[in-house]
Amino acid sequence: MKGLAMLRIGEIGWIEKDRPACGPRDAIVKPLALAPCTSDIHTVWEGAIGDRHNLILGHEALGIVDEVGNEVRDFKPGDRVIVPAITPDWDSEAAQRGFPSQTGGPLGGWKFSNFKDGVFAEFFHVNLADNNLAHLPKGMSPEAGVMLPDMLSTGFMGAENARIEIGATVAVIGIGPVGLSAIAGAKLRGAGRIFAVGTRPAAVTVAKEYGATDIISYKDGDTADQILDRTGGAGVDAVIVAGGSPDILMDAVKMAKAGSVISNINYFGKGVGEQDILPIPRAGWGFGMASKDIATGLCPGGRVRMERLAEVVMHGRMDPALMATHVFKGFDKLEEALLLMKEKPRDLIKPVVLVEQ
Ligand code: NDP
Ligand code: ZN
Repeated sequence: MKGLAMLRIGEIGWIEKDRPACGPRDAIVKPLALAPCTSDIHTVWEGAIGDRHNLILGHEALGIVDEVGNEVRDFKPGDRVIVPAITPDWDSEAAQRGFPSQTGGPLGGWKFSNFKDGVFAEFFHVNLADNNLAHLPKGMSPEAGVMLPDMLSTGFMGAENARIEIGATVAVIGIGPVGLSAIAGAKLRGAGRIFAVGTRPAAVTVAKEYGATDIISYKDGDTADQILDRTGGAGVDAVIVAGGSPDILMDAVKMAKAGSVISNINYFGKGVGEQDILPIPRAGWGFGMASKDIATGLCPGGRVRMERLAEVVMHGRMDPALMATHVFKGFDKLEEALLLMKEKPRDLIKPVVLVEQ
């Protein structure tokens, strides 16, 4: 079978591999819709998680089940499915403690395009199919559905981890598809005022649609100062970090009130200088005693999470398809879509590839 792979740091290419084998509780799935992620860009072009050789990329997919193991109960060949980006080992110790995305070590629930071949292939393997696949609801468009495995799950987690109370003031830094999903999540959690930080015009339009009340351009001056000015110096109850370079945490801590949560969902592809560190302002963080919590998390995966996200969409709470600004048709267009995600033209939010089946 054919797949689009990371050949080594900085290089991608099409490769041939054997079709994966299916275990008794697993499934082999063919892609129906695929999307590249900014994380693929960090992984390949920044070498953020270290070198990988001939590893098939991609972790955002809808698919059609091609084969299931003999212990799989709820899925059969031909079923249309949502494939979560994160496919945990649900029987692991970390999952039982409530952290399924971190099974088998940090980020261990993230298998596709991390340490196992990803979904940018003619066939891909899903472990624990009954727990890690969800049925694609009838009537959900592929452009909407393909945003669930990662964009909605991650962005909504950003809002969940931020402990947003009804009427809270929230700042979302970064309005790519992850930040936009966080804005939608913050609105669903009951935020009052929502600051959205970013500049791409297409993203600004969708940010307003999803619930942003104030748009802040980080190009117009210090982001934290702009938000402090607009809140009369008070700052915000929650900050969701979904973009920016490593020093963005300086802004986040500066604009956060006592008692707030800084909910980071950014994947820091690199740190600062040779020491590879992320800076936090010492005084701004009350010399370590400011009651400004920093929360982190990897996208939640699994079946129930996907089913809940589907409920949000099917009941009209938000329309994720608004983020699909560039829709390609045909598996062969994957490389173009991935390179577009790397270039990030001004009119881009998210490219989506629809695969003929
Ligand atoms: P994008 O690159 O599409 O969006 C980044 C956003 O950050 C843009 O709005 C950009 O502004 C803004 N930005 C850039 N520089 C600054 C700055 N200095 N200050 C403030 N804002 C800035 O990324 P995605 O939405 O696709 O992904 C966001 C992050 O989430 C990535 O790091 C990605 O890898 C990560 N991620 C994390 C996951 C997790 O599980 N935690 C899962 C999936 C993704 P502009 O509008 O000007 O372009
Ligand atoms: Zn991703």
